[in-house]
Amino acid sequence: MPATELEKEFSGARALAHVEKMVALGPRPSGTPALEETRKLIEAELRAAGWTAERQEFTDPTPRGPVKFANIVARFGGAGPGEPRVIFGGHYDTKIFDAVRFVGANDGGSSAGALLELARVLARRPALAQRIEIVFFDGEEAVDAFTATDGLYGSRHYGRVLRESGRARQFRFGIIWDMIGDRDLTVTLPSDSPSALTRGLFEAAEALGVRGKWGFLPGPALDDHVPLNQAGIPTIDIIDFDYAPWHTAGDTLDKISAESMETVGRVTLHYLATRAKELE
Ligand SMILES: [Zn+2]
Repeated sequence: MPATELEKEFSGARALAHVEKMVALGPRPSGTPALEETRKLIEAELRAAGWTAERQEFTDPTPRGPVKFANIVARFGGAGPGEPRVIFGGHYDTKIFDAVRFVGANDGGSSAGALLELARVLARRPALAQRIEIVFFDGEEAVDAFTATDGLYGSRHYGRVLRESGRARQFRFGIIWDMIGDRDLTVTLPSDSPSALTRGLFEAAEALGVRGKWGFLPGPALDDHVPLNQAGIPTIDIIDFDYAPWHTAGDTLDKISAESMETVGRVTLHYLATRAKELE
């Protein structure tokens, strides 16, 4: 299948169906049985699409005591002839609230659902899929508020392992998805995004006729791309932070759309196709 056609395989409807299943599990904060159910769902879908799914488990102190976290690291067809050169990531946990029933359709749901659809699509190009590592991050959300030790638990752990093992050097770039389901899609890239990735994604958006939906945040963002950049891997955070129900009980399925996830999925795959030659 030519690279240019791969993007057309990405189905927002399929991504949304994954999100619906996760939201049906209720609030999914780190360390809860509902997040364990989410993990089982993610692992089953990955394996059905031909990927291996390994848990990267660790326990970290949090403002509410120690929590056991688990990233899910997916590789295509196990240890193939080529090692991964690109990281795709996003978080699958939802923020913990005491007084609010927060199900995170967009924040935590959309990234995980779209990454599962990405895995299905990439499996159609095995040589390319072997060059991709897909990571579902646990503990993106801060228990209280973002500090050096609260929030980004999963990506900080993953980035540290990459650095300490020397594996960070094998990766050319990374792409994070976060809150990509808003019906009214307005991608707001952090202002300090790596320039080559930014340029390439804007060109891909232009090619697909959706450049108008892509712009910048007024400043940087603290998200799962930060620990990867700190590990020396240029990584961009594709996020729509212009989302009124953010961290409220209103972040529900009716606020997100298949179309928005499809737009982000296809633009990202279009960009990936432009770099496929150097990866395969
Ligand atoms: Zn959040």
